[in-house]
Amino acid sequence: EKTAETFEFQAEVGRVMDIIINSLYSDKDIFLRELVSNAADACDKKRFLSVTADGDSVDTTPPEIRIKADPDRQAVIIEDSGVGMTRDELINNLGRIAQSGTKNFMEALGDGTADVNLIGQFGVGFYSAYLVADKVEVVTKSMQAGSPQLKWESDSGSSFTISDAEDEDPIEGSGTRLILHIKDDAMQYLESGKLEELLQRYSEFIEFPLSLFKEETTYEKVPDVEANKDLAEGEEPKMKTVPKTVESYVTMNTQKPIWLRPPNDVTDEEYKEFYKAAFKSSYDEPQKWSHFRLEGQVDFKALLYVPGILPFELSKDMFDENSSNVRLYVKRVFINDKFEDIIPRWLKFVKAVVDSDDLPLNVSREILQKSKVLSIINKRLVRKSLDMFYDLAEDEDTSKYIMFWNNFGKYLKVGIIEDEKYKKDLVPLLRFFSSTSDEEYTSFDSYVSNMPEDQKSIYYVTGEGRKNAMQQPVIEKLTSRGYEVLLMTEPLDEITIEAIREYKGFNVVDATKEGLDLEDDEETKKEKEDLREKYSDVCEFLEVELKGMVQKVTVSTLLTGSPAALVQGAYGVSPTMQRYMKAQTV
Ligand code: ADP
Ligand code: MG
Repeated sequence: EKTAETFEFQAEVGRVMDIIINSLYSDKDIFLRELVSNAADACDKKRFLSVTADGDSVDTTPPEIRIKADPDRQAVIIEDSGVGMTRDELINNLGRIAQSGTKNFMEALGDGTADVNLIGQFGVGFYSAYLVADKVEVVTKSMQAGSPQLKWESDSGSSFTISDAEDEDPIEGSGTRLILHIKDDAMQYLESGKLEELLQRYSEFIEFPLSLFKEETTYEKVPDVEANKDLAEGEEPKMKTVPKTVESYVTMNTQKPIWLRPPNDVTDEEYKEFYKAAFKSSYDEPQKWSHFRLEGQVDFKALLYVPGILPFELSKDMFDENSSNVRLYVKRVFINDKFEDIIPRWLKFVKAVVDSDDLPLNVSREILQKSKVLSIINKRLVRKSLDMFYDLAEDEDTSKYIMFWNNFGKYLKVGIIEDEKYKKDLVPLLRFFSSTSDEEYTSFDSYVSNMPEDQKSIYYVTGEGRKNAMQQPVIEKLTSRGYEVLLMTEPLDEITIEAIREYKGFNVVDATKEGLDLEDDEETKKEKEDLREKYSDVCEFLEVELKGMVQKVTVSTLLTGSPAALVQGAYGVSPTMQRYMKAQTV
């Protein structure tokens, strides 16, 4: 006797379903990508557990994915032989939202700034089934020993049911079967031709055998009965070719994983498609990639990408912990994408696949942290990433680096602040506006090459925005001598530039700090002395008048057009920094 238990969806799930069901979103196609990617994840987990678990309950049916349209039932069926789900997992995984970033996504969906296409990145890809189905059944059997076959079912209302499903077609070993009851306005997905087109687009890089149930025509030779009627004694019987239609599962993905192939065998198109598939990034194209293999004391293959735009989840939080960027494999087995020590956090925006033969399959965070292999991989990933950035910076098409800088420049600044060992490599990649650069960025190299003979330091000022920074009175003095002044206008700029201190033998100097020494000759020194004498009474008077507001009042020769200026003491915290620190503590 079947007993179905009813559960309410968590409120957020209800919202997601509402948005999906009512969305006028036309690209319903993405449901297949999402559900196949879940099936592949489940196969990944199973493969991982099969090689690491030491019990005897381990199910050895090979992971694979099968897809079939069933027009008679008006259904599309997606089956995998992955890990499957227990009762608790059904409740937690298909009734609640685990990821914290999902709320952001929904807000963005609500106000129209995000696209349903991004759904997979926010841990709610499963619900895209409701783009094409009005009812979904999930029959599943977990690979945990003794797990029963269960069924989850929901017609997209506010609740779902879970029941025993021993009477459904049995699942061998473990796995999951999704039955999508297709809406009347989505009948095109009942054609295997349509499904095939989508699988070719989305699933070429799925690592497990993925097959589609479809008609295939084969040809065979049979005796030609008509023509053989008046066959003479001993004569060879005549044959004819006839078509034969069979329905069967046909493998859709025949390539081996892209990172295992020799680089000159892989086309640009394939690199781009793989990027989209592997990192669930269907909305941008990678700006650059690097595919290499390291041999020697450590053996590994890697494929690195610079994304085309700042990933959505990083636009709210630079180091969002749900945003994973390095997919680690050991001997082709996906281990996880959450090892933080594999790449420094200032490279959080780079996407990578790393496949190593030198790590144990049951590698844990603890083992990995201590392993020398990890630090070698880490160093190499940084080096290759820097190479990509330098390539972009040197590209004839300067718009490429500007785009890169606008997207990811802040990560390079964090690199300079946090990672002393790469400072030298990172500084030449920095770009700032300057007193003479107008709308263009300048680099330290171009700054230095434009310096007049007599200039002994690199000067910068800080300010909120370029206009504000340019209003610093000290700029007049420096520009009148033909010196360029870098403008530090972003919150991270000041800490970054303070970490640099010197470049190519020139000190990097805050032009607004007291005591800016512009190498005076004897005559000017004398002149200054006289001026100080002459105005000492005025200074004293002002110091008394402004008591508590300024530390001291001195005569300056730095101003040309302005009568007076407020500056900070040599050891003071600049106004920008004060504002930044304030912003951090609220
Ligand atoms: P995500 O894949 O980002 O976690 P989804 O909404 O696509 O988000 O899926 C939610 C969860 O449901 C998955 O994390 C997984 O635990 C579970 N799940 C979905 N499909 C399957 C499947 N075919 N086999 C096993 N578990 C699945
Ligand atoms: Mg998913």
